[in-house]
Amino acid sequence: MRTILTGIRSNSVLTLGNYLGALLPMVRLANQHSADSRVNIFVPDLHSIISEVDGNLRDNTLRTLKYWLAAGLEVNENVHIYRQSYVPAHSELCWILNCVATMGETSRMIQYKEKSKGQESCNVGIFDYPILMAADILLYDAEFIPLGEDQFQHIELARDLAMRFNKRFGEIFVVPAKTADQVKFMGMENALRIRDLTNPEKKMSKSTAAENSKIMLDDEPAQAAKKIMGATTDSEGVIRFDMVKQPGVSNLLTIEAMVTNTPLQDVISTWAGETRYGELKKKVASSVSQMLELFQARLNEVTDEQVLALLDEGERYANEVANKKLFEAQKAFNLR
Ligand code: ATP
Ligand code: MG
Repeated sequence: MRTILTGIRSNSVLTLGNYLGALLPMVRLANQHSADSRVNIFVPDLHSIISEVDGNLRDNTLRTLKYWLAAGLEVNENVHIYRQSYVPAHSELCWILNCVATMGETSRMIQYKEKSKGQESCNVGIFDYPILMAADILLYDAEFIPLGEDQFQHIELARDLAMRFNKRFGEIFVVPAKTADQVKFMGMENALRIRDLTNPEKKMSKSTAAENSKIMLDDEPAQAAKKIMGATTDSEGVIRFDMVKQPGVSNLLTIEAMVTNTPLQDVISTWAGETRYGELKKKVASSVSQMLELFQARLNEVTDEQVLALLDEGERYANEVANKKLFEAQKAFNLR
């Protein structure tokens, strides 16, 4: 049985962009494949601490897991959820892989360059986390790792490390699929990028300070509606889908299509030629607030007990699988 593995960091509440661009598609993939694949959903809480955590990490982690369930993740005997820090083999294998990876290849990671840029002293975790990520993947023989394109370079690194290790010590790790195949698997040929509401040239990001630029999954629906009403548009005066010339309007059309689960082309046709931006905003504001209301109602139904029970099973499973693989890697270096 092949393994699909994915996770989302738990630094803070997620945005509408994270939800539409990551959580929802991942939940759909998981549900679609869980009859014939193992599906590992984990919260990389050790990755969370490479940067500042907004709130209490343990609580955020449980909340992130509730998001998965509220977004519709169906848990069956092939689906396991766990927290990275509750499976010590991740850190152990990371150390072993540190001794296989080179400074050169790790220094080339774009995420590292971007995240360390301008920092007077950058923590070593920011440099090393792609190696921890390789451990996250290789411990479970994961073939497909649905993630955003910003993580593709790290998947390539995990592949390189697996191949290097196997060449030196024999077939210990399953080499994850190439990024081109990951993209195909995810059906991500044209990845969704929800834009920043006040600055639509940029993508919406949870770490952007301006509150009006992003919709958080915990926003009061009325507050979210207000943010949509205040979204930056343009002075073209006609509603058109053109991400280059009219990114603000196009973003609103995209959001409308996604939250109402309507094909984008249909939404574009509905609004084609209209000139009143205010009407479009009203419609999108209403759709987004309805979506949030529904999502938050589902979130309230997920209890701590439910999540903790799933974690109990998931972490038992993850430790068993990960420890077996770790033992192989330890034997390779004659640590065992
Ligand atoms: P940060 O500012 O901390 O980087 P972020 O909002 O960019 O936060 P990430 O933790 O980097 O979120 O990414 C989590 C997931 O959400 C990734 O799979 C990423 O591709 C996806 N994602 C992030 N922003 C958007 C967006 N604006 N539209 C669609 N998907 C997004
Ligand atoms: Mg990001």
